[in-house]
Amino acid sequence: MTRLPAHDILFTPMQIGPKTAKNRFYQVPHCNGGGYRDPSAVAEMRRTKAEGGWGVIFTEQTEIHPSSEITPFIEQHLWDDRDIPALARMAEAMKSHGALAGIQLAYSGINGPNLYSREVPLAVTGGPILTFTADPVQARTMDREDIRNLRRWFRNAFRRSQQAGFDLICLYGAHGFGILQHFLSRATNQRSDEYGGSLTNRSRFLREVIEDMRDTTKGELAVTLRMSLHEAGAYGFSNAELRDFIEMHGNLPDLWDLAHGTWESCSGTSRFTPEGAQEDLVKGIKALTPKPVVGVGRFTSPDAMARQIRAGILDFIGAARPSIADPFLPKKVEEGRYEDIRECIGCNICVSGDMTQGISRCTQNTAFMEEWRKGWHPERARPRGASESVLIVGAGPTGLEAALQAARRGYRVTLAEAGTTLGGRVARERNLPGLSAWGRVADYRIGQLARMANVEIYRNSPLTPGDILATGADHVAVATGAIWRRDAVARLHLHPIPTDPAMPLFTPDDLMDGKAPEGLTVAIYDDDHFYMGSVLAELLVAKGNRVHFITPAAKAAEWTENTLEQRTIMRRLLESGVDVHLNKSPETIGRDELTLACTWTRRLTALPAEAVVLVTSRTPDDQLYHATRALDWQGAGIRSLKLIGDAAAPGPIAWATYAGRNWAEGLDQPDPGDALTFRREIAALDSGPGLLP
Ligand code: ADP
Ligand code: SF4
Repeated sequence: MTRLPAHDILFTPMQIGPKTAKNRFYQVPHCNGGGYRDPSAVAEMRRTKAEGGWGVIFTEQTEIHPSSEITPFIEQHLWDDRDIPALARMAEAMKSHGALAGIQLAYSGINGPNLYSREVPLAVTGGPILTFTADPVQARTMDREDIRNLRRWFRNAFRRSQQAGFDLICLYGAHGFGILQHFLSRATNQRSDEYGGSLTNRSRFLREVIEDMRDTTKGELAVTLRMSLHEAGAYGFSNAELRDFIEMHGNLPDLWDLAHGTWESCSGTSRFTPEGAQEDLVKGIKALTPKPVVGVGRFTSPDAMARQIRAGILDFIGAARPSIADPFLPKKVEEGRYEDIRECIGCNICVSGDMTQGISRCTQNTAFMEEWRKGWHPERARPRGASESVLIVGAGPTGLEAALQAARRGYRVTLAEAGTTLGGRVARERNLPGLSAWGRVADYRIGQLARMANVEIYRNSPLTPGDILATGADHVAVATGAIWRRDAVARLHLHPIPTDPAMPLFTPDDLMDGKAPEGLTVAIYDDDHFYMGSVLAELLVAKGNRVHFITPAAKAAEWTENTLEQRTIMRRLLESGVDVHLNKSPETIGRDELTLACTWTRRLTALPAEAVVLVTSRTPDDQLYHATRALDWQGAGIRSLKLIGDAAAPGPIAWATYAGRNWAEGLDQPDPGDALTFRREIAALDSGPGLLP
């Protein structure tokens, strides 16, 4: 395998101020839900990217002072010298294979509610804190002394960043999150002193901070500026003003790192945003500055990346999610191993890890954030143990990942699938509106398995318990998936509700099987709260139905706030003419109407409908497992028989791929008993003196 000459341009080194990046693959700062709580897990995650060939690797946002912090989100702290060792560990990991190590420094201003530090938030112009959660907190307008203090806090952070071993410092002024943007934008800067008013005045603080940075680090580190390409709204820092700013200050940073306006638009999901969606906003900016430009766009295609550089749009290919889904993307392109690229599917499950303060996971890269916790690797699996063969029943995301990881470990793998198509739920969901990229979950794994000599795949093979016993495999995993329920049972209704059999009822499975109603008045009841309800609403509208969307929640698809999609979903539902009934749930389903109850008052109203679609919950398809378990499977030579994935506990696709890997990694491993199955770090107890005498 050799690399196409057209991609050579991606491997030409490039100067960033006093540093040189070995190639054009630039991992822009990204959160991971671990942050300061899981320092070693984050460091190992970044080390994997270094091994995978990235030229530049950044931390997530690092808060420089407790007077501005964004609890409950877990990012990094650089509040005093005690934070240096954890970040030094990360810098060392980033540099382990020749990448430049970057730290993103943030002061959140109007964005930081300070729920942990309890300090009064300081903003360019005071006002209510602008977060996802409408915290009932206001920030105070900074006076000149505050601005002097902030410059000093930045200088402290520059010194500590250098001490920790970083090469690059990124100043965060994008997504509406960083105070540098708050200074630049007339929306958040309403000052009348020398820091407000004209663009020259609004950029004063930025000029001062960059000067301070060069001074503090003696010009040894490079400084990058991460800025929003376009802030919406009448007073927002627009794309036109950004261009004016760059023209005025073309030489200010050592590199311009340009990201879309809000995090929501910058990290759009594939359902709503195509690859390279920021091109129009970034095109032409390179001509305004002699300094290199990096931009993002969920780039996974080396052709698209090379084109961005050749066309003079970007100098570096910025990536967060593509680097999460495939930390080895640069290496694979470098070696011409294009078919090995594990493309991001644009689902934003990684983002949800940060939004929920869990730890991020990735649908495609099951090792993400498990590199240190469990010793998993995105490309390798631990060598096989004493036994030799495995049988996996069901080729959905669980079964495919289980097969791939078991095969990588060196087991002889048999994968049996009842249907003609591999991919399970993904093979069906990829045909729904906006979800085609999700098919990459199946495509990548099928492609990998097809080239492995120790894997046999049987399609059209619905196995029975007898078949399983007859295979003689050492280990068996039953990954037979789950089926959408045909009643209203989910979160609100824990038992079925009265339903007239004359009302036509549909489940998501029916619609995916092509049995969608057409030209009717259809009521969708969504007590699932993720993507499926709204996706089916779009499908039903396209089929000429009049659609009512009913949810007991206060927002349609409310969990999609965690994937940054909720507002787009709501807008699209309304724009496509769907009647959205919030805070409502059916009490009964009659022959031609539903009786809806208000979530708060229980007041009842009638909603006429000709068909009902229930997006409620799923029943595990575990009959095969239990029927096999009832036989003498151990007598047949099977050492372990496990139920995994949606067949055990239905969840998002990322949970399924994780379950597949977890099973494969556990083969021939000693029983952990009651011990933890992952590593973690526990805060060191402080035995030092208190602050006050
Ligand atoms: P998961 O998300 O856990 O992978 P899916 O529902 O996506 O679950 O996939 C389950 C797969 O298992 C489906 O492709 C289904 O056809 C297959 N399957 C179900 N029962 C059997 C069986 N008895 N033998 C083989 N395959 C089966
Ligand atoms: Fe891409 Fe989804 Fe993985 Fe995030 S979780 S990197 S969006 S595949």
